[in-house]
Amino acid sequence: MNCLHRQIRLLANKEGRQHRFLLSIGTNTSSDSDAEAFRSETKKRVMLINQEICIGCHKCAPHCPVEAIFITDQKARKRRKPRAIDLDRCVECGTCLRAGVCKVEAIYQQPMEWPRTLRASFSNPLKPHGHTGLLGRGTEEVKTNEVTHRYVRGQVGVTVEMGRPGIGTSMRDIDRLTRAMADRGVEFEPRTPVTGLMSDSVRGILKEEVLNERVLSAIIEFKLPEEKLDVILSALKQVAETLDTVFSLGVISVLPPDGPDPTAERIKSLGFTLRPNGKVNLGLGRPLPKP
Ligand code: SF4
Ligand code: SF4
Repeated sequence: MNCLHRQIRLLANKEGRQHRFLLSIGTNTSSDSDAEAFRSETKKRVMLINQEICIGCHKCAPHCPVEAIFITDQKARKRRKPRAIDLDRCVECGTCLRAGVCKVEAIYQQPMEWPRTLRASFSNPLKPHGHTGLLGRGTEEVKTNEVTHRYVRGQVGVTVEMGRPGIGTSMRDIDRLTRAMADRGVEFEPRTPVTGLMSDSVRGILKEEVLNERVLSAIIEFKLPEEKLDVILSALKQVAETLDTVFSLGVISVLPPDGPDPTAERIKSLGFTLRPNGKVNLGLGRPLPKP
């Protein structure tokens, strides 16, 4: 019986990093179980480069935000060797394909299955999040507070945007941070994709099955009583030392009717630099009734 044939190879680059990639696809005569093994491998690996077509022009690699496209033969004198996608590093953002730079059409996609699908949801702006049904980062988050009233006076809303810009983050790092925040008693916003991945949102624990995934960026969002802000920001500094990525921090509070924002001075006193950037959202719709 004809069936698909696959070769999966491990390759170490000069920094010693190992890549896992699909070497070739062809047809030969083999058993049904081989075919099934192939299907299960390819289903999980969405973005692929066909090694038999790729001419090694390197035009796709600069488009990859996480440097997942690499040369398959590191020792080759001629660098026009086929490229491949590091399947562990690829966040399924789809940029290499959308860029349309591969004139031989060696870049192609295979169907994928859970939990790899979450890579695309968090990294490809054209794929909606299953938990919220929203595109992009999948959450309206704090900047829509004028409409949603997620945070009221006396509370502080915090967003931790992990992996941005252009670094990416592992779900293990997200799990590390959410557990540390939960230990300090924060309340996670339920309408975010990250909270949707938790098996225990009180303790900030992500589902075991998602921990080996990587995404381009993800927003952790939570609220706390204003008086706890110092504890949380200090804890964030501590946990930052243990992460293999970067994050940017957003804090929101409802301003008092008169006078300055009381949280701004406290944030500065903890050694954070406040960026005087502003964003105004217009036309978000009718505000929900105030709680
Ligand atoms: S899908 Fe995105 S992360 Fe994966 S190889 Fe292409 S550009 Fe890189
Ligand atoms: S653009 Fe296409 S042919 Fe060129 S290196 Fe990338 S996959 Fe290969």
